[in-house]
Amino acid sequence: MKKYVSILLILTMCGGSDDALLTIEDTTTTTVADTTTITIQDSNTNTESQDTTTTTVADTTTTTIQDSNMNTEPQDSNTCTESSTSDSSSSNNIIWGKVTSCFEVYAAPDVTQQHIDVSVEWFNKGIELWGNYGPAELWIVGKSNDGSRALDDIWCDVRVEKDPTWNTKWDCLNGDPYGSGDGWSQFYRCPDQGCSFVSTYIRESLGYYFSAMTMSAKYPGPEEDDYKKVILHEYFHIYQAAQVSQPEIDDGDGDWMTSNRNYIETGDYVQRPWITEGGAEYMATYWYSKQSGVSEGYFEERMRWKAESLPGYLSDGRSMREVGYDNNSWNIYDVGTWFVAYIINQTSEETFRIDFYSELEELGFEAAFEKHFGKSADAMIEEFNSWANQPVDVLVEILP
Ligand SMILES: [Zn+2]
Repeated sequence: MKKYVSILLILTMCGGSDDALLTIEDTTTTTVADTTTITIQDSNTNTESQDTTTTTVADTTTTTIQDSNMNTEPQDSNTCTESSTSDSSSSNNIIWGKVTSCFEVYAAPDVTQQHIDVSVEWFNKGIELWGNYGPAELWIVGKSNDGSRALDDIWCDVRVEKDPTWNTKWDCLNGDPYGSGDGWSQFYRCPDQGCSFVSTYIRESLGYYFSAMTMSAKYPGPEEDDYKKVILHEYFHIYQAAQVSQPEIDDGDGDWMTSNRNYIETGDYVQRPWITEGGAEYMATYWYSKQSGVSEGYFEERMRWKAESLPGYLSDGRSMREVGYDNNSWNIYDVGTWFVAYIINQTSEETFRIDFYSELEELGFEAAFEKHFGKSADAMIEEFNSWANQPVDVLVEILP
């Protein structure tokens, strides 16, 4: 092995964030002071720790925390256990969907303790609100390119560890993305531009399926309240992805925007934001507004801001289904959020979040939409377009 110092924080997290804070703090101190090489330790395979040759810090870095104060929502099975079970979609020990295992946290060496803490806390909040889905990983990038570059190495190590068939040539750092800009890595944009996204890796060719949430120190940064809401938004993407267990078929077209999974989720092979982003943004904004310490008028205020995108959409003439991520003249996320608010007003929050999503795979998008919302997606969009063409004071009356 090359002589580079890899400081790795791998933590398995569920609930009990107060405990988690202490654990991470201990880890950081111990790691930096006493060891130069830390082995990657998978909490679910403790038996393997015998094979490692370098200093293992299993006691401090690998910690499963049982949630002791799960409150609020009466959700089923949101606690973590050592072994994983789920509605597994295939043989070969591949797990996808609802899980009992804990998510894992990987942070770049320059990420602050506060940054880790707030990320873990709100990832756990998502689990508490909507259930535990995965397998999931949380990757946190800091402010420096050096830190991000170190996280790239950890990414590759973890990938190969979990899936020996991982394509290290293209799906690990390649080229020189930080320097010349010619190349790619999972995290290279994050220190400068900020990032928050979920990558879902459920593909025929992979030996391990997972969703990875990546957060950074910018836009929003961990000191901003908006950071918490963004984690909920991203966690809802993990929930959405977990509802469809059919892996992506490698169709060889080289276009990551088209997939059989998109077709099941949205009735379209091409990935477009309207209901996926609208759903995530509605859930994040609505559920964040209900958390303690968030001001009374938060939800309505945010929805009023989002309503400013409606006139641009309504005069555009295209159906919201046809609008891509590259639309710059008005915000399709805002329109999608209002569309989901409209659906929920016609039905209920649970109908959208639970009933519709739970039958997507079995029925397909169009049939699931019609069954749970009472009309076709196109008919609902037509209806929404007429309704949305009203003063915002009228629109906000439908908000819960
Ligand atoms: Zn999103």
